[in-house]
Amino acid sequence: MLIICPTPIGNLDDVTPRQRSALEGADLIACEDSRRTGKLLSLLGIERQDGSPRLVPYHEHNAQEAADELVGELTRGRRVVLVSDAGTPAISDPGYRLVRRAVEAQVEVSALPGPVAAMVALSASGLPTDSWQFYGFAPTSSDGRVATLEEAEDAKMTSIYYESPKRIEALLEDVVRVCGADRAVCVGRELTKMHEEYVRGSAGEVRREFAGRDSVRGECVLVVGPGVADSGDSADIEVDELIASMLDAGCRSRTIKDVVSQVHDVARSEMYDRIDEVRQQSGEGPNGG
Ligand code: SAM
Repeated sequence: MLIICPTPIGNLDDVTPRQRSALEGADLIACEDSRRTGKLLSLLGIERQDGSPRLVPYHEHNAQEAADELVGELTRGRRVVLVSDAGTPAISDPGYRLVRRAVEAQVEVSALPGPVAAMVALSASGLPTDSWQFYGFAPTSSDGRVATLEEAEDAKMTSIYYESPKRIEALLEDVVRVCGADRAVCVGRELTKMHEEYVRGSAGEVRREFAGRDSVRGECVLVVGPGVADSGDSADIEVDELIASMLDAGCRSRTIKDVVSQVHDVARSEMYDRIDEVRQQSGEGPNGG
């Protein structure tokens, strides 16, 4: 069995009991950097008896050969736990290739839940979360970044990028250039660590904030808000506009309720509150008809 086991992205307390017992019960642990994973095991107080579980390096540069060995072990019934240096393996790292090989070899694959930097940043960004796209690492060249950001320019969903501290300012500059200085963004930095930080605002403001720093340290996630209102927002706007025009035309609340709830997907029970809200926004008092 192959078990995908997330590890902390900065806070050791984020290790769950299930992750701990997967690591303790592994025959082999496939890891990016065996020194780093060895250190994690010792911080967790997991002792390796006679070198077991064996740590097998599995990274970008040996993925093919290491996967051959690991799939061989898996088909012999061994329990292999896949970890990465931080976060959830297979998310923006070569782990997915091992998962694919295991699936092809008809080995059971199970994933434990745990930290993903993109999800931590998205959930705290305050930007729409109902629909989003994850790009992994932003391209390192400005041309590549611009091409990628053009997809976010008029996207109906939030876009998420991984970026190094060295290039976060350049990435923000390109966001301003492609999506405009007003686009809502959030940079999550050093997430779950002692100096965790969220910088939220328009792309122009957040770029200025980073440009004003002597240096930027720690890993970053950039979250870029949608370019156009999503369908949920635009449907809400249409409902409010219809209510407002019926109020202007002097229609009674009961008529508005009947008409709007037939035309739009709004529960009749919510209609009086909705009519009152529109009435208040337009400067009239509530219950005016
Ligand atoms: N598998 C990992 C995950 O689940 O998030 C991502 C691995 S990827 C190789 C590393 C990138 O994730 C970093 O360059 C950074 O963009 C992001 N990242 C990882 N830890 C982070 C943290 N504590 N704060 C902010 N970003 C982080």
